[in-house]
Amino acid sequence: MSDNQIAIVTGGARGIGLGIAEKLLEAGNAVALVDFDAETLEATVAALKSRHGDGKVLGVQADITCREQVEKAVANVQEHFERIDILVNNAGIVRDRRLVKMEEDDWDSVIATNLKSHFLTCKSVVPLMIEQRYGRIVNISSRAWLGGFGQANYSAAKGGVVSLTRSLAIELASQGITVNAVAPGIVETPLFQTFADDVQERLKKSVPMQRIGTPDDIAQAVMFFAAKASSYITGQLLYVCGGRSLSSPSV
Ligand code: NAD
Repeated sequence: MSDNQIAIVTGGARGIGLGIAEKLLEAGNAVALVDFDAETLEATVAALKSRHGDGKVLGVQADITCREQVEKAVANVQEHFERIDILVNNAGIVRDRRLVKMEEDDWDSVIATNLKSHFLTCKSVVPLMIEQRYGRIVNISSRAWLGGFGQANYSAAKGGVVSLTRSLAIELASQGITVNAVAPGIVETPLFQTFADDVQERLKKSVPMQRIGTPDDIAQAVMFFAAKASSYITGQLLYVCGGRSLSSPSV
């Protein structure tokens, strides 16, 4: 896809977000990475600029759970690139705990980062997309929206992302804006590395394809929804999970 589009990728400093940014850049698009980890963001932006050219990459430090910071970040991207064609809501966190051990802050922070942030970024970017009468919004949900042990907060947030996607798809369909979601299974990223070794091993064995996904696998699906040519597809959820969504989770 060489559509020459301008994209925002939240949580783009590492992991899946970085994989998405790489693929968008490889296809000739320009990318603004929005992330609150200043150090990693700086290193990633420098590496991407050296591979894809200074003019194609912008790094914006912002906490996507904060409305003021999101508005400022979006204004910054708009001023720099003049338009925003693609919004990839990717940043997310986990705070897995059984309900009896889950603190209110575990609930609030996971909902704020994984769900409320999508509302905030969409609210900031959509008016411009309506003006353009064009936009591609791709939300990163998770296979875990189906339910997961110790993941009441995460599952609820990711299920909320699916519902938000479907509602916004209906609202924005007549404006040339599509809204779709990708549900990754288990992906090899720094987030995955936070799990204990035995948990990582069990998770790998639970995938019908017997392998962990890569950021590139997820980016492939994002590219499909983000393409100009995908203009008649909206409100859809695409699993990218090596078949894990097909059977009941064993872990
Ligand atoms: P990651 O932890 O490797 O990277 C997440 C990035 O988001 C980091 O750069 C972090 O700094 C940034 N971030 C977190 N909170 C932020 C905030 N408030 N403001 C700005 N930036 C913030 O995670 P990942 O594994 O690449 O996950 C990316 C997305 O994919 C998440 O939404 C996650 O829920 C989803 N996902 C991941 C997996 C997996 O196995 N890794 C599976 C399913 C879904």
